[in-house]
Amino acid sequence: MPASIIDGKAMALSIRAELAQQALHLASRGVKPGLAVVLVGSDPASQVYVKMKRKACAEAGIESFAHDLAGDASEKTLLGLIARLNADNAVHGILVQLPLPKHIDEKKVLLAIDPAKDVDGFHPVNVGLLALGEPCFAPCTPAGIIALIESTGKKIEGANAVVLGRSNIVGKPVAAMLIKRNATVTVCHSKTADLAGEVGSADILVAAIGRPGFVKGPWIKPGAVVIDVGINRLPDGKLAGDVDFKGARERASAITPVPGGVGPMTIAMLLKNTVEAAGRSTAR
Ligand code: NDP
Repeated sequence: MPASIIDGKAMALSIRAELAQQALHLASRGVKPGLAVVLVGSDPASQVYVKMKRKACAEAGIESFAHDLAGDASEKTLLGLIARLNADNAVHGILVQLPLPKHIDEKKVLLAIDPAKDVDGFHPVNVGLLALGEPCFAPCTPAGIIALIESTGKKIEGANAVVLGRSNIVGKPVAAMLIKRNATVTVCHSKTADLAGEVGSADILVAAIGRPGFVKGPWIKPGAVVIDVGINRLPDGKLAGDVDFKGARERASAITPVPGGVGPMTIAMLLKNTVEAAGRSTAR
């Protein structure tokens, strides 16, 4: 029987509807959740992502504060803006769209964001808390991945989980989150000796390498849950994941499509972190 398709789009929509209710409730107590979205320059992909995030905010009753800086804006200007946003009580979350232009030190910028407003979960304080298994703002894509796995009913505890990719924004944090949930985790990368063999041992497979159709169907362990994080633009303009969807579907028990899997969940988790930050601000 072919794998069931994990509908990330539908799940994200239902989370966003629930968040809209929570935002309404907070607003009735005088706190309208606010997200500052900072864009530097005019990278087309970044512009698309920022537009999607702002639209999602509006639909969920979250105030989005747009800060669009010119591509040649200085690091000092950006750090000054972040300092103002840190001090602004109407702003509960701060998102700086990456990548930044080369003349700006990304690490310095992420470090400048108040960890309590770091809804992207990229500040070293939140990265450290995640590694320690302590409460924190989990980065959005990994949080979405975990929610998608949980939605299948697959038991994470005791499962062999294999993560392909060790980036700071996907591979490493998702591995930490799976360890926290008592999976036995293997992280693979470009120097892994037997990638197909590692994939074959996975009850849960998370593929985040950025290579279209790299993971072949016959590699997949029968019954595995497959989360395809890859977003790759093909020459014909279509999007493809890192997994050969058709082949993998013959062996997996559940699989995410690309598009419509992890992508929509990333935005839903950003909104979730923002509403949570607003809620916490009422407790301060
Ligand atoms: P990075 O380029 O930062 O990292 C890629 C990782 O994959 C690296 O660890 C690299 O290994 C590993 N890798 C690359 N090629 C191979 C290979 N042939 N065999 C084994 N490992 C390999 O990518 P990201 O983590 O930022 O993104 C990964 C994918 O996920 C991309 O397609 C991206 O577009 C997508 N993405 C999707 C999101 C969503 O919301 N759906 C959000 C973020 C990313 P090494 O470390 O050795 O170089």
